[in-house]
Amino acid sequence: MLVGADDHASAVRRAVLAPAPAADCGWATWQGLTPALPDLAAGTAGRSFVGDAGFVGLMPAGGGLLQWWFDVPWCRSAPRPPSPVTWLRRRFAHYAAPVPDLLAAVSDADIALYPHVRHAVPTRWGTGPSTLVGDAAHAFPPTLAQGASQTLEDAWLLTRALRTAAHPVPALRRYERARSARVRPVSRLAATELTTGRRTHSPGCWPAACPPR
Ligand SMILES: Cc1cc2nc3c(=O)[nH]c(=O)nc-3n(C[C@H](O)[C@H](O)[C@H](O)COP(=O)(O)OP(=O)(O)OC[C@H]3O[C@@H](n4cnc5c(N)ncnc54)[C@H](O)[C@@H]3O)c2cc1C
Repeated sequence: MLVGADDHASAVRRAVLAPAPAADCGWATWQGLTPALPDLAAGTAGRSFVGDAGFVGLMPAGGGLLQWWFDVPWCRSAPRPPSPVTWLRRRFAHYAAPVPDLLAAVSDADIALYPHVRHAVPTRWGTGPSTLVGDAAHAFPPTLAQGASQTLEDAWLLTRALRTAAHPVPALRRYERARSARVRPVSRLAATELTTGRRTHSPGCWPAACPPR
């Protein structure tokens, strides 16, 4: 049996399912994990900031580390800023504290870019004794914090299907049918980037309630 669990650019997916790469969703996350903002990092509460420049998340990650990310509109063909942190400092300069403080404390070596991409979720994820798990099957934007969660559900259901199966191939198809039905609406909702940008997707009352900072 072959189980492809090799992320959204999966070689297994290309071999057993479809050669097309995951589609761009128009946003990307600049993300880092550093000991910045020690008071916040030592706590147990995260903070989110939504404004006209994009979405910012700050999350204590344990061990004195802070996970921080900036969701911004993104296009593969646009040139990358030579210094992402300088670019983010300019873009988010008007956001409330501690966003500018964080950006003052980090460097380009701390940051990585994760474009938001999405695979359509077919009902079948492989042929014969091959299948997929996680982002290889159903990559979608991280905006709902569901990618790892759905991947764990895949692993759980795949294990259960195989444990009780007389023959693995029908069990794999049953696993794919069950999981595709569940993950498809999650993927669709995540791809709206509902939580990422306030201008394009805010429910009615947000724009008035949400100041630029
Ligand atoms: C910025 C960002 C924020 C996110 N936030 C959240 C969140 O808050 N909550 C949430 O649930 N999810 C979140 N996700 C999504 C989550 O990270 C993924 O959905 C999850 O990691 C998918 O698990 P996976 O095992 O399918 O793939 P991965 O975790 O990507 O693991 C795949 C592994 O396969 C390896 N690999 C790839 N190709 C090969 C090869 N050819 N040979 C051998 N090994 C290979 C890779 O090195 C990697 O170790 C986020 C993602 C991003 C990018």
